[in-house]
Amino acid sequence: MAQYLEIKARHPDSLLFFRMGDFYELFFDDAEVAAAVLDITLTARGQHKGDPIPMAGVPYHAADGYLARLIRAGHRVAVCEQLEDPAAAKARGSKAVVKRDVVRVVTPGTLTEDNLLDRRSANVLAAIGLAAGGAEAALALADVSTGRFEIFACAPEAIGEELSAVSPGEIVVAEAAYARPMIAGLLGELNAPAAPRPSPKADPKSGERLLKDAFGVSALDAFGVFSRAELSAAGLLLDYMSLAQAGGAPRLDPPLRRTSQATMAIDRATRASLEIDRSAQGVRKGSLLAAVDRTLTSPGARMLADRLARPLTDVEAIDARLDAVAYFVDDPDKRDAVREELKAGADIERARMRLKLGRGGPRDLLALKSGLMAGERAAARLMGALGGPPEELASAAAPLSLAEQPDLAGFVRTLDKAISPDAPALLRDGGFIAAGFDPALDEARGLRDDSRKIIASLQAKYAEEAGVPSLKIKHNNVLGYFIDVTARNAGPLTEAPLNETFIHRQTLASAVRFTTTELADLDGRIARADEEARAREVAIFNDLVAQADALSSPIAAAADGLARIDVAGGLAQWAAETSAIRPEVDASTAFDVEAARHPVVEAALRAEGEGFTANDCRLDATGEAGPRLLLVTGPNMAGKSTYLRQNVLLAILAQSGSFVPARRFRLGVADRVFSRVGASDDLSRGRSTFMVEMIETAAILNQSGPRALVILDEVGRGTATYDGLAIAWAAAEHLHDVNACRAIFATHYHELTDLADRLEHGANASLRAKDWNGELVFLHEVRAGAADKSYGVQVARLAGLPAAAVDRAESVLERLEGEGAPGAALDDLPLFASVKIVEQVSAPSEADKLLAELDPDSLTPREALDLIYRLKSASTSGEN
Ligand code: ATP
Repeated sequence: MAQYLEIKARHPDSLLFFRMGDFYELFFDDAEVAAAVLDITLTARGQHKGDPIPMAGVPYHAADGYLARLIRAGHRVAVCEQLEDPAAAKARGSKAVVKRDVVRVVTPGTLTEDNLLDRRSANVLAAIGLAAGGAEAALALADVSTGRFEIFACAPEAIGEELSAVSPGEIVVAEAAYARPMIAGLLGELNAPAAPRPSPKADPKSGERLLKDAFGVSALDAFGVFSRAELSAAGLLLDYMSLAQAGGAPRLDPPLRRTSQATMAIDRATRASLEIDRSAQGVRKGSLLAAVDRTLTSPGARMLADRLARPLTDVEAIDARLDAVAYFVDDPDKRDAVREELKAGADIERARMRLKLGRGGPRDLLALKSGLMAGERAAARLMGALGGPPEELASAAAPLSLAEQPDLAGFVRTLDKAISPDAPALLRDGGFIAAGFDPALDEARGLRDDSRKIIASLQAKYAEEAGVPSLKIKHNNVLGYFIDVTARNAGPLTEAPLNETFIHRQTLASAVRFTTTELADLDGRIARADEEARAREVAIFNDLVAQADALSSPIAAAADGLARIDVAGGLAQWAAETSAIRPEVDASTAFDVEAARHPVVEAALRAEGEGFTANDCRLDATGEAGPRLLLVTGPNMAGKSTYLRQNVLLAILAQSGSFVPARRFRLGVADRVFSRVGASDDLSRGRSTFMVEMIETAAILNQSGPRALVILDEVGRGTATYDGLAIAWAAAEHLHDVNACRAIFATHYHELTDLADRLEHGANASLRAKDWNGELVFLHEVRAGAADKSYGVQVARLAGLPAAAVDRAESVLERLEGEGAPGAALDDLPLFASVKIVEQVSAPSEADKLLAELDPDSLTPREALDLIYRLKSASTSGEN
């Protein structure tokens, strides 16, 4: 217990998995938490300060599954192992305790195990650094499972936006920063566990030292110049990683620097409303990513997710990616041939990092082998053509070509010979080095196998000698090899002369067990040979891991190349399936698309055998090639939201380097996109629907510059008609006059359609619907000009509102429309008259007064009953 308490004191924020023999045990509060989350039995063991100690345990060989559940439930787990053989402890004295210590802290953001991770998503650990009293900020992002490491400065108000782009698994932040409402609010929104750390850990000086140590350099110049906030973020991150590895040095690839201007800014609300990587239900299905993802490898899937999450703004870089996709679109045979090879590509990225971190197993070596071999074949297919692929693909293929890299080629050959194809996941299971690779190993195995053969032949000999045909030679872990005879037949073996050969070992109810000198000798030889074989395998494994580590950079480059080819091939596959075309991206401020389709809605409709109506859209911030602001009206359900979103999604796809579902698309690069579509409330944060709508609208009006692309749907719907109309009017005007950016504004306020004519660069568009024999038919077709009416009542009928209510709505509508301005007609309507009656009744009454004076805590039961009678009579007299 003393040992436990000492170790636990060093890991107060983690559940402590305390290894005892074949179990990890949890004690005290940890046991209670684990028992509840894992649904395992809570028992007690011994006493602490007179009370029984709560205890819960999980078997070590099944620990991974339990770990996964605890991590998913948001816990951290410190894994404490026995660091010596219990026999060694005993040798020190009978009271000696086995040495134990924490070898790893498993946290959500530092996982590397395939079974704890989603193969197709990155797992990002993020750290927030602040400097200059919070005026400067920076982020450090690392994917421990792939080694990717990024450090960059960002505006404090952009932290949320940057983090939401990578959906971190865990966020490290200094306690002092955590205490700031801005940071705490942001972390609340992100829905990732926060790991607050003592503030000194965020000191830029110590960050600088940790960075230098981690990359073994005496100056950071090679990586660029770091701001104080950047050093602080990097320090927090590296320190936390080293904590997770129980003091081990953090192992990451050298930090990538990035300027945030290089990517399209997409804030959290926009990201959510556009359903880029998750649908509104929070799952991958139904998202843009799921619709376009045809990648075949996990690293490719992760790279595609990253590209869609952070589209580029540099025209040349976008074009380079598009060249790669175009190449595969134009040459379907090549695409198929390359993709066929990729199917065999394992997750080299994560295998490499697990090996580097000392968490790897035989299958990770196998993954390196098959991944690198598949990469080499894919590169060969790609390069073996006349003309050759564009630069983006050629540079991706280069690190995969083994011919140019003798060291890597040698390593792959070694792996190919060394690892047997059915290698187990765990090192301790042994048997993964192929026969013929290592003579010493083969010899030990030969010795072991020969002895086993001799033992097999002994059974017949002993059966004959003992005169017991049913005699068997068996094996278990306690006795090793032994002779097993049924109790009934055992007698003669215990007597002369047979007892000279057969030595008694054990008597059970139904059987008696013997050995012989010969058998014991063979058993010893097998055990020794087996041990030697295992030790030899471990030594070979360690040597291969060291070789992999020495080749870490070329392996990382190969993994990156393979992922890039996979992404380009996958996007081309999708483009071919959906007849997507190459967008023309330039530095203008135009947005000109013909026959655009919504990639997700179209796929959903197609799955049901229905078609999607393609639509054009033309905008230009300068007003030259199209209107700056497009006001879209049309009936409910006509397809307004779909139209708005599809245009922004096309811009995101194009700037990610993907083809787009349209006939033609010219896009002047957008530096940020904003989307405010549909209403949702955020009651958990105390914000009503209307408040959320206004906060998001405020962000758009405050932040959109001339290169932004904005869609706004139904602004002002959450409040009273006139307030809403006024706000929508002002927002549209502001977008046009002040922000001067490309914007599409959908609204139900027909009054707004006049505005489009008044604005210099405004225009109206509408979605068509037809009244067909009283049935509403949606054409989903956008055309110039304003809609004639809303058809809201017809949609209500379609939705199944009771017929009486629909009829009533129709007569109210008629009356309202007849009167011109709403409101004037209301007095005549009995509906609104009855509202007034209700208001009169609810004016302060006798009952209200009684209730206002009431103090419930001081009432006796008797007084309470009295009060009910008085209330009853007060309310009856009120009715009169
Ligand atoms: P509301 O005003 O009620 O929010 P809306 O006008 O925004 O409605 P959407 O939500 O965009 O309408 O579309 C309604 C449905 O119409 C979609 O779910 C989709 O199935 C279908 N739809 C939208 N656009 C198209 C299109 N271009 N082609 C075919 N079907 C479409």
